[in-house]
Amino acid sequence: MVKKYTDLLRCDQETLWHPYTSMTNPLPSYLVDDADGVYLHLASGEKIIDGMSSWWSVVHGYNNAFINDAMKAQIDKFSHVMFGGLTHEPAVQLAKTLIDITPAGLDKVFLADSGSVAVEVAIKMAIQYQHSLGQADKNKLLTIKNGYHGDTFAAMSVCDPVNGMHSLFSGFITENYFADAPDIGFDDVWVDSAIDSLKQQFADNHQHIAALILEPIVQGAGGMRFYHPQYLRACRALCDQYEVLLIADEIATGFGRSGKLFACEHADISPDILCLGKALTGGYLTLAATLCTTKVANTISEGEAGVFMHGPTFMGNPLACATANASLELLIKNDWQSQVSAIEQQLRTELLPLQQSKNVADVRVLGAIGVIEAKYPVNMAIIQQKFVEMGVWIRPFGKLIYIMPPFVISSAELKTLTQALANIVDCDEVFKNI
Ligand SMILES: *Cc1c(COP(=O)(O)O)cnc(C)c1O
Repeated sequence: MVKKYTDLLRCDQETLWHPYTSMTNPLPSYLVDDADGVYLHLASGEKIIDGMSSWWSVVHGYNNAFINDAMKAQIDKFSHVMFGGLTHEPAVQLAKTLIDITPAGLDKVFLADSGSVAVEVAIKMAIQYQHSLGQADKNKLLTIKNGYHGDTFAAMSVCDPVNGMHSLFSGFITENYFADAPDIGFDDVWVDSAIDSLKQQFADNHQHIAALILEPIVQGAGGMRFYHPQYLRACRALCDQYEVLLIADEIATGFGRSGKLFACEHADISPDILCLGKALTGGYLTLAATLCTTKVANTISEGEAGVFMHGPTFMGNPLACATANASLELLIKNDWQSQVSAIEQQLRTELLPLQQSKNVADVRVLGAIGVIEAKYPVNMAIIQQKFVEMGVWIRPFGKLIYIMPPFVISSAELKTLTQALANIVDCDEVFKNI
């Protein structure tokens, strides 16, 4: 057994790309044998608590019987059919639920295969919409720095230009407009000047802007920062003033993570286009959705093309839709709101005191997201190994050490995660510059 797993790991290193990794200097991977509830079972024998929900997605934990049963039932009917000219109950049911639970006005649903594709679809919708209105010059995007919207090219073009290494792809990547990132925190006292940089971009470039795209309230992979709801309300008002569409990328925040079912609800606004993904299937399969208003859909449909120009092979995959339906049912049945607010309270109690540590620059909590911003970048190989030894799976990047646990985590299990964070911030050898 031991030999088998070391062989697998060697073969993995020789053959497989992992996300954002080097093939000549790969970091070690950990081999997962099994997963159950909030636990990952490693082939090396450790049983560790997943503090990342496999990147925001596994909100109900692993190997959930209710979701498994729904998936098996759909497999025994059919796993896939093309969506051109055919339809099926899982997709119709999913569309109906998404329209019901998302902010008002989002009435049309495009089912895509991954978050990045949902963003591509949203961008295409915005361009086609403006084109249909005879405003073909409105074909660029406006966004804010420190954003993250995915790894395909159009999505990359609205990611932070520095974090997203736009220089590497210059000449190929579309140039868009960037305002400064909001530097007014969720709980700060609002000052009108916080929106000045964005306002200026609207004033200078609105005749070229199809849509403003941003992550509402929580800037995820671009810095794990939570900004003021009034900023988002001001975005909505500026979009209306300049006839620019508002695209809310809720791929990370959707389905309760920020303490509201959708982060837009913190500001009580509805976007024109909404991107969903990650937790949509409870992390069991890849699926994403782009919702839009009837006005956007009808304008596109009455434009030059007469149709929306997109249609992936695995669009509306029935197995993924059935999985999403089960996950959404479970979200309500489990009372996600109590789950998330219990996690939030505990994170506040147990993480905010870490602010006092000499290695910590800031601690932030919103909903079921806890972030420690260290003063120094971490050494990934060392910190990962230490976390595994402490029985947790936490995967930092740069100076950010953060958790967004499954909603089903118990108080004792969450305590194990926060205790690991408390231990690590005092551990000088995990920080590179000490
Ligand atoms: C993860 C993420 C994406 C990209 O989704 P993928 O499924 O990885 O393509 C886009 N936007 C946001 C806000 C995300 O967090």
